[in-house]
Amino acid sequence: MARRYLITGDVQLVRRLNRDAILGLIRERGPISRTDLARLTKLTPATAFSIVEELVQDRLVQESGMGPSRGGRRPMLFEFNSRSQVIIGVNIRSAQVLGVLAYLDAKPQVTIARDYDLKGGADVVQLVKDVIRELIAASPLPTAQLMGIGLAVPGLIDVDRGVVVQSENWDWEELPLRDILAEDFDTPIYIEEDDNALALGEGFFGAGRGVSNVVCVKIGRGLGAGIVVNGMLFRGPDNAAGEIAHILVDPDGPQCTCGNYGCLVRMISAPAIAERAIKGLKQGAISSLSGRVGDDPEKVNVAMIAEAANAGDAFAHQIMEETGRYLGIGIATLVNLLNPDLVIIGGGVILAGSPLLEPARHVVKLRTFGAPGERVRIVAAQLGVEAPAIGAATLVMTQEGALPTRGFAGFD
Ligand SMILES: [Zn+2]
Repeated sequence: MARRYLITGDVQLVRRLNRDAILGLIRERGPISRTDLARLTKLTPATAFSIVEELVQDRLVQESGMGPSRGGRRPMLFEFNSRSQVIIGVNIRSAQVLGVLAYLDAKPQVTIARDYDLKGGADVVQLVKDVIRELIAASPLPTAQLMGIGLAVPGLIDVDRGVVVQSENWDWEELPLRDILAEDFDTPIYIEEDDNALALGEGFFGAGRGVSNVVCVKIGRGLGAGIVVNGMLFRGPDNAAGEIAHILVDPDGPQCTCGNYGCLVRMISAPAIAERAIKGLKQGAISSLSGRVGDDPEKVNVAMIAEAANAGDAFAHQIMEETGRYLGIGIATLVNLLNPDLVIIGGGVILAGSPLLEPARHVVKLRTFGAPGERVRIVAAQLGVEAPAIGAATLVMTQEGALPTRGFAGFD
């Protein structure tokens, strides 16, 4: 049933908040007794008991045996029933459709990746349907126990209508993706912008688990960020919050596609990093990279640079250090603006590790003021290339009431 937990009024809101509190505690601290749940949530025992009953009926929670006596009868303990249902998350990437099928713990049980070539006229929507069908066929549970499908799509997304308003990669405009998929799949379907999905995945089940305020920065061909405030995704009215690409970091930097100079994306996106390395190699820089590309500097890509930097190559290290400093300037703006607990850096560039992150941390300390700069931690993403797909699956759980709206913030 789609939109079962859409919040429409105060009574439902309070009910949902109470349910979230109980569900979050059972997920994080179960097995746990109803008396302890009432005590920890400060709900009346009657309310706590009735919510647990509802969660058992929804098959999200199950009995797990008797706990120790505290003088009276031994209490029944309850635990999260993560294997009662499965979820599907699909990430439409620039040359690949990547889908995962997971139980309600969000750990992928099945991963399917299908490459495509747009120039070859690939039908990406058809490929998405094929990947979903393959995942359903590989599911350990029957179709009736599929909770829903989430999609992570780059571009401007209208999440309420399930429409891709605009996505330059595929020239999509006003594509009613949810309705198109609903013709083939009789289950709730949700669509989210891919950087937001990444933030949901990393924020709830990756590097940000248990943290309330997270910014997740994705460095790839482009540059974007997902923002989680008080445990909830901050989307903005156009679902366009977190567009950090054109933050100014170097007024004397090279010109950006937007017309300005020295935008963050122009300094730290994967193509920008490769461009700086190629320029250096052409000017005669000594590096192990030259050997790897048969002395054709144009073949250098960001993964090679990141690996070489991590392996101790001085030139690659210097390129990553520069990148880290620009990244730090960008992050400092986010820290001064949002006061996050955590900034998570994702994308292939993260293979570089500390040659990238250490300069970023240093610059953030220099350019932020007081408590926010002291508090913030800057860390690498943990979920790898599957993160946006896991995030899309996470979205299904929050919408269908299987995950507290605010994730696990406050439960650790
Ligand atoms: Zn720009």
